[in-house]
Amino acid sequence: MRTLDGVGSTPRSGVGTARWYRPEADLTLPDRPAPESVDVDTELARYESARDAVREALREARDRTAERVGEEEAAVFEAHEGFLDDPTIIEDVEAAIRDGTPAPHAVADRFGEAVAQFEGMEGRMAERADDLRDVRDRLLRALLGADGGEGGQAVTDLAALPDGTVLLAERLTPSDTATLDPDAVAGIATIEGGRTSHAAIIARSLAIPAVVGVGAELDSVADGETVLVDGEAGKVVVDPDEDLRAAAREAGPEAIRDRVETIDGRSVEVATNVGGEAELAPAAERGADGIGLFRTEFLFVDREAPPTEDEQYEAVTAALSAFSDDRVVVRTLDVGGDKPVPYLDLPDEPNPFLGRRGIRLSLDEHADLFETQLRALLRAAATEDGDGLAVMFPLVTRVEEVERAVARVEAVADDLTSEGVDHAVPELGAMVETPAAAFLADALAERLDFLSVGTNDLAQYVMAADRGNDAVADYHDPLHPAVLRALDRTTAAVEGTDAWVGMCGEMAGDPALTELLVGLGFDELSMSAVTVPDVKRRVREVDADAARSLAADALACETRSEVLDVLGLDDRAA
Ligand code: PEP
Ligand code: MG
Repeated sequence: MRTLDGVGSTPRSGVGTARWYRPEADLTLPDRPAPESVDVDTELARYESARDAVREALREARDRTAERVGEEEAAVFEAHEGFLDDPTIIEDVEAAIRDGTPAPHAVADRFGEAVAQFEGMEGRMAERADDLRDVRDRLLRALLGADGGEGGQAVTDLAALPDGTVLLAERLTPSDTATLDPDAVAGIATIEGGRTSHAAIIARSLAIPAVVGVGAELDSVADGETVLVDGEAGKVVVDPDEDLRAAAREAGPEAIRDRVETIDGRSVEVATNVGGEAELAPAAERGADGIGLFRTEFLFVDREAPPTEDEQYEAVTAALSAFSDDRVVVRTLDVGGDKPVPYLDLPDEPNPFLGRRGIRLSLDEHADLFETQLRALLRAAATEDGDGLAVMFPLVTRVEEVERAVARVEAVADDLTSEGVDHAVPELGAMVETPAAAFLADALAERLDFLSVGTNDLAQYVMAADRGNDAVADYHDPLHPAVLRALDRTTAAVEGTDAWVGMCGEMAGDPALTELLVGLGFDELSMSAVTVPDVKRRVREVDADAARSLAADALACETRSEVLDVLGLDDRAA
């Protein structure tokens, strides 16, 4: 038995038989012929038909991902198509072919340069290098015939792996991952990759145990060996003993359908975050008590114009009927920052995270989109399941923003009344994602029905650490005492008022933090569906009084390591 360390990505364990996926082995280029012997027209035609085949394969991958995983994750294939049809890249490849370079070499050269450029960047931009590699390899497979001309499909059929496969790879692309059958694949381990790469996000949505960034040591694992992937601890165990195997084979925790409360009877709602319709049924199956965050921006990506009022109404009513007895919190459009939408023509800003995003856009340059969205939401609130609807505003920093947003809702309600259209005004709330909102939580709660803390952004703004920049990942830390005090400030401001307070940032889905969050006073926790059963289980073990004193101890800490001590946690990635 030997153990390799990596970064846990999907917090699940699985055990199975190792199988390497090495698509690059099939992409060796033939020697370069002399330029004068290259038939330029033939090579140009080959390049064009390879692009057609890859485009078709990408669209298939997009549709499959949208169906199996969700629109949010499927949107990445639009980016792939963007690289495939990037006019500068096409121009450069065609120019190289005209100079006597065969199509495969021209593609490998030009994409090689682009990959190197992205690899030199930080954070999420560096992760785009994976997407470029994916497009390059698909083109090369189509050109070199390694796929039998099928549009750049992988040589190993990832969709048809035998049951109990643990897939090992240098890296997986998002399309590779979306192809996997979650019932057949017991786990994934990769040499490279980070927790926030698109491939890791897709694996998490499919609930496939995954450990990424294991490093070159993973090469020492041979095909056919028995391997355990522990996505919780970030470990890959080769030839695990029987006890470990038995523990890993245990099915993930069973869904708890009922609502849960602490030992001493405090109820805590455990809801889920969704980005689109495909995620509704799996979330309900995992026992989510409702939707704590519907990220509507994913209705806006992956298309050429904004969704119509009716399309938005359909999406929201689908969520309401999937959770007909529960609350469904829909967040109004939150674009900007790291969520660009090409057709919205967002300003090019030096610091987009400190620029025009969230409610700022909705109250100003995107007032028209805001109005359309509010019309759809107010109509949805009047449907059979509509009384569960709640609407929240993103990236609030000023009381006036809330007042203006509420006034917009009232104005839209008046318009609908004068048009004779059925509607109702849902519960209204704001996200607490900025220090300003945490400091003003009392004033916000006075004007609204609820607040929901987005720790992904809150940690970034409290700690001055870009959430997508690996170089400051350890600063982007929700367990830093300053962030904990911002959480406390928020929950304390809501206590004793009629408003409720939830959390929908990633922190909410970590069962090791459930006691702390209950102790801080959160009424609702919302997370990716995969961790809903664990968090529900954990809530049932918590004693609310003990949790409060644990939270008080954590709030008295001055450093992260003191907080970890109080929580009894080993050091862990921020
Ligand atoms: C957050 O900021 O924590 C949040 C939930 O919103 P998003 O991740 O969509 O920015
Ligand atoms: Mg946010």
